[in-house]
Order: sequence, then C-alpha cells, then structure tokens
Amino acid sequence: MVTTPSVDPQKLQAVRKRYAEEAKKRQRPEGSAQFLQLSQAHEERLRSLSDDPWADHKSLNAKPSIIRENAVYKAFVLGAGFGGLLFSIRLIESGVATANDIRLVDAAGGFGGTWYWNRYPGLHCDLESYMYLPLLEETGYIPKHKYSAGSEIRQHAERIASKWNLTDKALFRTTVKTVSWDDDTELWTVNFVEGRGPSAAPIEHQIRAQYVYLAAGVLTRPQVPRIPGLHTFSGEIFHTARWNYDITGGSQEDQTLSKLRDKRVAVVGTAATAIGVIPVVGKYAKELYVIQRTPAYVKPRNQQVTNKETFHIDVAYKKGWQFERQCNWNSFLTNSAEPGQKNLVGDGWTDMPGYSAMMGSPSHGVVDPSPENLERRTTAFHALDLPHMEAVRARVEQAVKDPETAEKLKPWYPSWCKRPTFSDTYLELFNEPHVHLVDTDGKGPSRITERSIVVSEKEYEVDVIIFSTGFQVARVGSPASRTNTTVTGRKGQSLDEKWAKVGAATLHGYLTNGFPNLFFSGTSQGTITGNNIMMLNFIANHITYMISSGEKRVGKGKRAIVEVTREAEEAHSAQVAKRAPYFSSVAGCTPGYFNGYGDGVDVTDPEEKGKRERGVVWSEGTISFLKLIGDWKKEGSLKGLKILPAR
Ligand code: FAD
Ligand code: NDP
Repeated sequence: MVTTPSVDPQKLQAVRKRYAEEAKKRQRPEGSAQFLQLSQAHEERLRSLSDDPWADHKSLNAKPSIIRENAVYKAFVLGAGFGGLLFSIRLIESGVATANDIRLVDAAGGFGGTWYWNRYPGLHCDLESYMYLPLLEETGYIPKHKYSAGSEIRQHAERIASKWNLTDKALFRTTVKTVSWDDDTELWTVNFVEGRGPSAAPIEHQIRAQYVYLAAGVLTRPQVPRIPGLHTFSGEIFHTARWNYDITGGSQEDQTLSKLRDKRVAVVGTAATAIGVIPVVGKYAKELYVIQRTPAYVKPRNQQVTNKETFHIDVAYKKGWQFERQCNWNSFLTNSAEPGQKNLVGDGWTDMPGYSAMMGSPSHGVVDPSPENLERRTTAFHALDLPHMEAVRARVEQAVKDPETAEKLKPWYPSWCKRPTFSDTYLELFNEPHVHLVDTDGKGPSRITERSIVVSEKEYEVDVIIFSTGFQVARVGSPASRTNTTVTGRKGQSLDEKWAKVGAATLHGYLTNGFPNLFFSGTSQGTITGNNIMMLNFIANHITYMISSGEKRVGKGKRAIVEVTREAEEAHSAQVAKRAPYFSSVAGCTPGYFNGYGDGVDVTDPEEKGKRERGVVWSEGTISFLKLIGDWKKEGSLKGLKILPAR
C-alpha cells in the first residue's frame, strides 16, 4: 500500500471534488480527434506549417548518395534522434556492426530528432542535463548549464554521431514508407523516399537489411486544435515545433525576437513548451495574450552554470556516475528511495512522491483490483500528492500580484496527470501590464476570425498566433502507427493488424512474434521514466544484447534470425496486464496526451479492455524493470527467444 502522510480528510475530499469537476469540464466526446495533425491538413497553408524550416537543401543535395540501391545492410534505423543514435552506437561497440554496415534515415534534415525539430526560444532540457545528455562519460563533454539549451542538446547529437563515424551514414529529409519481411531471403526490404527540397525531385530508394530498429519517438507530429475559423485568420500563424524566426526575428542562437516589438501576439497552450516560450515572447511582444485552457503546474527551475572545476568531484566522480545518478533520481521518482538515501540531484522531480502513480513503484506492482481497494489506493496517492500540489498553488499566489489572475493560474489536478514544468520567470510575467492571461475555463477559444481570437464572445485582436498545442500521440496503436509506416512481417502479416487483433504483444516491450529481427522503442509493455534518455539507452543496450547473443549462438559467418516466441510474448503481456490496475488513479485525470485526451476511458467491452490492459507500462518502475531484464539475462538461456541461422 502507498504510505500516506496525514492530511486533513475534509480538505482532501474537497480538493478531490474540485479535481473531478475541473477534469469533467475539459472532457470532450471527440477525444484526441479535437486536434488536426498539421501534416494532414487539407489546407495548404496549414499543411505547410509542418514543413521543415531548418533543412539546408543546397548542401544536402550536393552530398554524394550514401545509399547503395538494393544493397544488404546489417542494420537499418528509422529515426536519427537519440534513440536511433544510441542503438547504432551500441551495435558498433558490441562488434555486431561497423558504422559502414548501418544506415539511419530521418524525415528531419539532421541529427537530434526532437532537438532538431524543436528550436523555439526558451527551449531547455527539463531535467538535469548531466543525467539527460547521453554518453557524457564517453565523449568527455561537460554541459554548460544544469539545464542545457536546445541548441546545445542538438549539437551533442551531432557530436556523438561524429565520434562513432555515423555522420555520413544517415540519410535526411527521408520518409520511410514500407518495411516488409521477405520470407524467401529472410531479410527486411525497406522503401523510403528522399525529399530534396522545393527545387529538386524526390528520390525513391530500396534497400534490404538484416535488422531493423524503429526509433520513431513519440512527440514528432505537431497538431493544432480544430478551432472554427482558423483558416480565415489573415495574420501570421505557426506551431512551436517549427518556430518561425522570420516572423519573430532572432534565431535559436540569438533569441532577440525584435520583430515582435510592434506585434500583438497570442500563444495558445500553457503546457511544457509554452512555459519555455512565453517568457521570451513576453519580453519582446507589444501585447501578449496567453490563451489558457488548463494551467500547467510550474515549479522552480534554479538554473545554474556548471562549475567545470568541481564537475569531476561533485558529479562525474567515478566511472559509471551517470547511470548511478539516473537510478538514484529514478528511485525518488518512483517513491522507493531507501530511508536516508542521499538525493544526488535534489531537483523538483524528486520532491513529488505522488508522481509515482504514473511512473510505477516497485513495492506494489500487482494490486488487488477490487473497486474498494483501487479507491483506497487512489485516496492514498492523493494524500501523498496534496502537500506538493498545495505548495505549487501557494507559489502562484506568491509570484502573481493580482489575486484574480493568480487564482486562474492555479492547477487543479494531481501531479501525475501532466509532466511537471519548471520556470523562474513564467508566473512573474503575468505581473507585466502588456501580458494578459486569457483563461478559457477549460474550453479553449470558441473561434478565430480574420483578425482575432475569440474567447467567450470577447474578441482579442492579434497579429500573430503561436500554437503551442502539442503533438499527435498514438496511445494504443502498434509501433508502426507512430511512424506512419506500413510494417509487414512473416506471411505478409501487418503489425497494425496484429495490434488491432490482440493488443500489444511483445517481449519486454521491444520485439514481437512474426516480425523477426525487428525491434522498436517505446514504453508500452516496457518501462517509463521521466528521463527518456535513460530509457532509450537501456532499450539500445537490451536489444543489442539480444542481437549479439543471437549472433554468438548461430556462430560466425551465419546470419542470425532472432524472434520472440508467441508463448513468451503472451507470458510477458499477461504479466503487464496483471499489473495494469496499479494505474487506476490515472483514469480520473484531466484530459491530456497522457490519457489520450480521454480516448477509450469509457471502454467497457471486456475484450477491448483486456487489450488496453496489455498495453500499459511495467507498473513497478524502471529499477524493477531493469532487475527483471537483469534476471532474464542472468538465467542465460535467452528464454523466450527463438534463434536460428538464416536458411
Ligand atoms: P525523436 O527524438 O522524436 O526522434 C525520432 C525521429 O524519427 C524524428 O526525428 C522523426 O522525424 C523520425 N521519424 C518518425 N517517423 C519517421 C518515418 N516514417 N520516416 C523517417 N523518419 C521518421 N525528454 C526528456 O527526458 N527530457 C527533456 O527535457 C525533454 N524535452 C523535450 C522537449 C520537447 C520540445 C519535446 C517535444 C520532447 C522532449 N522530451 C524530453 C522527449 C524527447 O522526445 C526524448 O527525450 C528523446 O529526445 C526522444 O528521442 P527519440 O530518438 O526516441 O525520438
Ligand atoms: P502538450 O500536449 O503537453 O500541451 C498542449 C497544450 O495546448 C496544453 O496546454 C493544452 O491544454 C493546450 N491546448 C490544446 N488544445 C487547446 C485549445 N483548444 N485551446 C487552448 N489550449 C489548448 O504539448 P507540449 O508541446 O507543451 O509538451 C509535450 C511534451 O513534450 C511534454 O509533456 C514533455 O514531455 C515534452 N516537452 C519538454 C520540454 C522541456 O522543457 N524540456 C518542453 C516542451 C515539451 P489542455 O491541458 O487543456 O489540453
């Protein structure tokens, strides 16, 4: 059971009532369909908002092709963010492949994934960069600040690509269309289209590969709400994930947004991205209207310059320090630190034990699923979370002078419903006379006209609308659905169809029966932690272990086919589903991408419910999951894997 601090039961009840009312206000029957994925908009003007603003087409077109048509590569990697890079690096380090045997492709024009696309002013890592930037020990790089800026993180992706000779192994501006298993050759055939900018025709490519890794990430497809009249707006619009410095002035390196000085700007959205963007826009815009549907919870950031003199004493004090730091931090996140355990990071993630309702916790993964027990647990999580959220709300009162504005900026949901945000300037900005909070009381703007954005029949005339409204996130689809790619395995079976039929079905979250030598990143049936790099690194290591062990088993000179058996994936799926009731407290959350904007919360069909239960993450937290994998490795037989040489 969750250990609870003593809180006033009446207060707790009143707060929970308010949480439930606020969540209800925001529920919409259309769920995530309230959004339009920009790349799929019918209107050219909206569709073009998802175009890549950063690709240097001239220099990319001048490069010699790195693809040998129909050649067989050892590994094909979809996605050149940190996930794809880490996997490629682990393959190289384990001796499975040389850099030359690997090809990565990405729709982006360079390395970095998230950090390539997102270049908005104010972008920083939201957790300590010493724990987030991968391979700091191997590269010797020391982040400049405790929270690295977006450009520094992107440059780090380029740094690691270069160190492992991957710079010229990636094809950019390229979209993967199909990935198909060939039963005869026992290889994957991959078709992809290389875009070459507005003045050159695209090129279609086909290659074959022994191993395929889908490292497509989750937050890659910018979306906007379907607000009536959006297309009629005659001013400027753009999405934060494709920041338009031509409109604002400045650049990612020089964030002087001088062109906004005579502009009235609306920012729609107040979540993690907006909390970074708004203070910078507010510095320059003539008038700023912050269009709020749900307030973020904003915690102190305490940015600091890294002391390079003491970095190797205080942080990087021994070999393996980064992993130790990640695990230490994670134990606080999952409310499982040992009594008296030193908190190495001591940030705003480690003082909210209630967040473990979302992150999992080792001591109570399998819980009694009776409604009475689940209600007891939810009450306990709320009690655990209340002091934290009370402090968050009190901080708003301290920072914002106008009590009415402060009241509107207070978040009324438990911490586990949204990712925390961190800023020392966001709340204070609302004390400025040119910054206006337009609270929509959970509804969003009712319409947009040629010149204005309308909330509760009041028109706000603006010159620029910046959408900070997140990404299309597929919660229940197969790993292929996140890539917009058709993946077909043995006997032409589609990965999407498999998921639609049985739900998630994997070993440890990363491979599935009928799709030999195909691996994917993700959290479903795997693990989740606030530090995505810790997770991506773990996945890369684990998959590489399976591949290299498979290669050893079949022996030199033979091609290994690694596949999970149906029995093993069913056994893992059952273990995951058994633990699903742990997450029952998340069901009452205010809508957001964590709960698919409420898609499927009212599913009652037992079969459909069962599919959803299989798709959750391991409920005992990341350290417990690492132990599960560690024990699986120790057992030594690669249990559940069928490994054969290719015919
Ligand atoms: P991504 O970085 O998303 O890379 C996947 C790539 O796959 C993309 O470039 C995409 O273009 C490409 N792709 C997808 N489909 C195809 C296809 N069919 N063909 C070709 N290419 C394709 N996490 C944290 O832990 N801490 C943070 O501070 C943090 N900050 C973030 C800030 C922002 C603005 C966002 C959006 C996310 C943030 N995240 C953060 C989450 C972040 O996404 C992960 O930390 C991590 O960078 C994901 O890496 P990835 O390689 O898995 O995916
Ligand atoms: P989110 O999906 O988290 O937020 C979207 C925002 O848009 C919410 O405030 C949402 O309100 C609002 N919104 C949606 N529809 C409307 C509408 N019709 N009217 C008004 N507002 C609306 O996207 P983000 O880009 O902010 O963040 C996505 C994720 O990316 C984060 O959770 C985090 O994992 C990562 N990230 C990390 C950052 C970092 O600091 N390193 C920075 C940015 C992102 P509502 O809550 O009511 O739905």
